[in-house]
Amino acid sequence: MEKIEKLVIIGSGPAGLTAAIYAARGGLDPLVISGRTAGGQLMLTTDVDDFPGFPDGIQGPELMQNIRKQAARFDTKFLEEDVSSVDFKMSPFVIQTETQIIKTKSVIIATGASAMWLGIESEQRLIGRGVSACAVCDGFFFKDKVVLVVGGGDTAMREAQYLSKVAKKVIVVHRRDSLRAQPALIELVKSKENVEFIWNSEVLEILGEDKVTSVRLKDTQTAETSEINIDGIFVAIGHKPNTGFLKGAIDLDDKGYIVVKNEVFTSKEGIFVAGDVSDHKYRQAVTAAGAGCKATFEVEEYLEQK
Ligand code: NAP
Repeated sequence: MEKIEKLVIIGSGPAGLTAAIYAARGGLDPLVISGRTAGGQLMLTTDVDDFPGFPDGIQGPELMQNIRKQAARFDTKFLEEDVSSVDFKMSPFVIQTETQIIKTKSVIIATGASAMWLGIESEQRLIGRGVSACAVCDGFFFKDKVVLVVGGGDTAMREAQYLSKVAKKVIVVHRRDSLRAQPALIELVKSKENVEFIWNSEVLEILGEDKVTSVRLKDTQTAETSEINIDGIFVAIGHKPNTGFLKGAIDLDDKGYIVVKNEVFTSKEGIFVAGDVSDHKYRQAVTAAGAGCKATFEVEEYLEQK
């Protein structure tokens, strides 16, 4: 007999694994397709001080390991492969991974989003050592220090606004001379006394052996280079939802995020969504986990009605 899963969860960050805990405890015998780089964005973070339940904080990778263990305790099945394509035209839905074709009655998509990086070598080497893409996660470690934010959109302004409350000085470096962020947000950031802007500049290199010590900038108009001392750099040049494998299967918005109806429903009946793959606003582990829980409740109701 052909095996048809009750629920397949694609993604293994806080959203996917929380969905798995609830689904496994609810008897849905879920299969998590965790991806080759399992664990999501928290795997790139060091100390997590804002996830409830850890009064002394916890390392991002350790938190993900714990959530995964919890899901495994209730007999969640894991497949550590990436999804290459899906066919959601009719139930059972079909998911193609690197080595398998999986059929399922329902799906929760929780593939998250990836922060976009500048793409320079020193950036990857110093991630977690002064290079970050999340002020709320890591800003606290720069109390009374000098930090630099790269970008000119809403994310960069939010990062700068948040950091201005913690750091001694925030320097926003933008590659053009005008920002694309909402005017109200720009005004708010510009009103902060400890925020300054460097226009028409790009980051050539981040310097430091074990931690960030300075940054080399290039003026995009004069090609002149300069070096400034900093303690941290927040790259805020946008996030990219991980939805490449979904094109044509469900509705995506113009940035590639899954279009949600009523919190966790997608444009396709039986396909649900949780976490950053549809949320470009809150983007927190705890909000993703909450969405994973909600999605499972809706899956249960959907399968019962079927
Ligand atoms: P975004 O609007 O795409 O802005 C990205 C910024 O980074 C732009 O200023 C861009 O420069 C710059 N940039 C891109 N690639 C770069 C590179 N390689 N080097 C240097 N700079 C680079 O992305 P976002 O700010 O993350 O916002 C994404 C979406 O989420 C938007 O729709 C936004 O409104 C929304 N959002 C909303 C809020 C909110 O509070 N309401 C908060 C965050 C995000 P250019 O301007 O020159 O292109």
